[in-house]
Amino acid sequence: MRRRSSGLAFTRRHFLRSALVIGVGSGAISGLVSRASAAPALAFRPGVDVAQWQTELRARLRSILGLPTATNGSLAARVERHRETAQYTMDRIQFTAEPGEVVPGWLLRPKGMTGRLPVMICLQGHSPGMHISIGEARNEAERKSIAGGRDLALQAVAHGWAALVIEQRAFGERARPGVKCNDAALFALHEGRPLTGQRVFDVMRAIDFVATQRDLDPARIGCIGNSTGGTVSFYAACVEPRIALAVVSCSFCTYADSWLSIPHCACGYLPGIVPVADMPDLAGLVAPRRLLIVAGREDNLARIAGVERGYQHAREIFAAAGVSDRVRLVVGEGGHQFYPREAWPVIGEMARG
Ligand SMILES: [Zn+2]
Repeated sequence: MRRRSSGLAFTRRHFLRSALVIGVGSGAISGLVSRASAAPALAFRPGVDVAQWQTELRARLRSILGLPTATNGSLAARVERHRETAQYTMDRIQFTAEPGEVVPGWLLRPKGMTGRLPVMICLQGHSPGMHISIGEARNEAERKSIAGGRDLALQAVAHGWAALVIEQRAFGERARPGVKCNDAALFALHEGRPLTGQRVFDVMRAIDFVATQRDLDPARIGCIGNSTGGTVSFYAACVEPRIALAVVSCSFCTYADSWLSIPHCACGYLPGIVPVADMPDLAGLVAPRRLLIVAGREDNLARIAGVERGYQHAREIFAAAGVSDRVRLVVGEGGHQFYPREAWPVIGEMARG
């Protein structure tokens, strides 16, 4: 999730300007938010059959994400040792998600572990690329970004996880020259496959890749990301049952308190999701698997009140599924970043079950 500027005053001005451009007048802001507050068609309602509700909502979400029906093409996977430290090994990898879409990445394995390794799929948000996940800064701005808890793969190996880093579409090595992420997202909408759905599909194929590595445990796959990385982790966990634990940082919120009132990059928007379900309803698709929500109290892209309200709703659904302790919320005392010190002890608890 990328903010185009800071301050709510800008947000309001931006909306007013947009409203003028499209000729709908200055009521556009309140109109958008009030529509979002009406109960969506597949909102979770107490007393429903949870499994049946999940099946229906998951099918709708898969359709909105534009996921391909054929998902078993050749991976043409490649793995090559890149380097080794005292703590871990690091391989350069790549696999083919679908024709024309080769996904590059890194696979890190901690040393000194016995048995099959749990694996955490690591996703960056808007950033120069996946090298941030492995703690490689190319300038001062990237050093600051990493200081905001974004070296996810290094954190994972330090906590005993293998880490599979992949480059997301339209970011880093997969950005087409001269095409901004926002523009790539608009092109993707026009083609009927939202960029978020394409990124989710890459995560599903990354799990197929995990299955090719015999020392990785397919029953202990996590997915972690901050900002847009969190958004993709979230939707991937909603539709992909092989994800046992999703760690969703600075991206979970009610739509009214984030995407529908604070402008984001186009790549996080899903056409037609609001009349179907709010984000906290969708969180219920992760049950009985595990969901850790990480939030920043001062995050200017997701208001904390909306995060907390959404979390309470998600808890109701997990409770109805008989697993109320499998959704957790960790709040850091800062802005739009990841909070490793607060989150990793809870990740450890949740992974142990
Ligand atoms: Zn974007």
